[in-house]
Amino acid sequence: MPLRSGEPFSLISLRVRVHLMESNANPRLQTTLTEKEVSGIFDEVNAIWSQAGIRFELEAIDRLQALDLAPKRWFIKDRDWVKAAIPTNHFSPGSIDVCFVKDMGPNGFFYGEPVVVCENPEFHKVSGGAKNPVARVTAHELGHVLFLQHLQERTNLMASGKNGVSLNPQEIKDARNRAQEIAGQLSQP
Ligand SMILES: [Zn+2]
Repeated sequence: MPLRSGEPFSLISLRVRVHLMESNANPRLQTTLTEKEVSGIFDEVNAIWSQAGIRFELEAIDRLQALDLAPKRWFIKDRDWVKAAIPTNHFSPGSIDVCFVKDMGPNGFFYGEPVVVCENPEFHKVSGGAKNPVARVTAHELGHVLFLQHLQERTNLMASGKNGVSLNPQEIKDARNRAQEIAGQLSQP
């Protein structure tokens, strides 16, 4: 049904499975976040995404041992190395997989599953920004899952390296369209 202005959004729910990364070989991949902290993070992610009527349901949180990969060489992009160290056999076919690691070059990334988020992001504060920068990075990367592009307007959720959380009407429209498609795909057996 087309969205008319002034009409309240119908809620679109997408399931998320969180993997807390563990690694003996590469301690920087091992997150210190607890399950309780992750649910707090998703409370704020959902507060941010409520402006678009989109909700991310936390279906499960598990611990996932990283593959024992050789340390990163300087000519490999950090995100590519981190992604290669994450085994995909515990991913959920019916939800969006989100992995948390301790240290990483970028604050987060998504270029095909999984979403990966660093627990120590570097960012600039803006007024009205997110309380928890990890929640902001998670919400930003989920924006990429919903096909949103970077938008360097200080207070916008899709600005890089800031903690802004706002979405403009076009972003809301695009994100909802994509969320609807994903919800349809994920619900198929
Ligand atoms: Zn980004």
